[in-house]
Amino acid sequence: MDKIQLAIARLKEFELKDEPYFLAFSGGKDSITIKKLADLAGVHYEAVYNVTTIDPPELVYFMRKVHPDVRFSFPPKAFLTRVPERGFPTRLARWCCEEYKERGGIGRRVVTGIRWEESRRRQQRRVVEPCFKGNYKVFVNPIIDWTEQDVWSFIKQEKLAYCKLYDEGWKRIGCLFCPFTPRTRRKMQVAHYSGYRKAFIRAFVRLHENRKRQRPEVVARWKDGREMFWWWVNEAKQVAKKQLSFSETETRLLYQCRGALEVQTGRETSERETIHSLMEDYLNKVAPEEIEQPVLFE
Ligand code: SF4
Repeated sequence: MDKIQLAIARLKEFELKDEPYFLAFSGGKDSITIKKLADLAGVHYEAVYNVTTIDPPELVYFMRKVHPDVRFSFPPKAFLTRVPERGFPTRLARWCCEEYKERGGIGRRVVTGIRWEESRRRQQRRVVEPCFKGNYKVFVNPIIDWTEQDVWSFIKQEKLAYCKLYDEGWKRIGCLFCPFTPRTRRKMQVAHYSGYRKAFIRAFVRLHENRKRQRPEVVARWKDGREMFWWWVNEAKQVAKKQLSFSETETRLLYQCRGALEVQTGRETSERETIHSLMEDYLNKVAPEEIEQPVLFE
């Protein structure tokens, strides 16, 4: 059985008789692939796009035009409203995926387009898996064993329309200015999407003011929110100097560090705060010449 037939068989096999799949649709190449496979399999589904409010306009345009059947699910608060409250996401401490990307599908069978090839973390995933994080759902990942090439071959074979950003060099399409986007591309986005850039800077200015009132030591290194924003845009490289990943052992270590920090400060602390504190330690230990200074190029 080839990969296409296998993916179709998986979708048929795990469909519930009395409830359509919740198809997590992002508008990217993997999503258009699973949607087409679901059509070929003849299974029932509801395709849902979780709006993050920092979505590339070209992607939204593509989905509205080519996939009008996809339901747009809006979050209670815009991303840039949450930044002044929760802080900025980083590669080590991202709060936003859970809040914006992983919404919906509670109690349902959720079809995703994740693939093993995408990351080491995803290599732990299975074709079908229950998820107990937050509320219960069951993930069905029909193309988990596909390569990127398999996906593009399928798109060509089926003559599927795709978002034009791929032809402009985007490898993965997602939130604008996401800390997981390679640094050069992220800086290009920041230069290109000037409206979003201004809105991000306004959010960072509010965040800086909030933190200055609550915990001035946390933001002491930045003159203001604008400088903090440009540091954030360049931050990926600083962290990438010594790539950190989270194995089981590292996660355990993180919890130990969290405990130690709570003892030190005498109050309850979060995983995110622990990571920030570890990053501070790390940055303090690295020789200054190893750290790229923020480029304030606006
Ligand atoms: S994709 Fe990036 S910016 Fe978007 S929610 Fe996830 S971590 Fe945040």
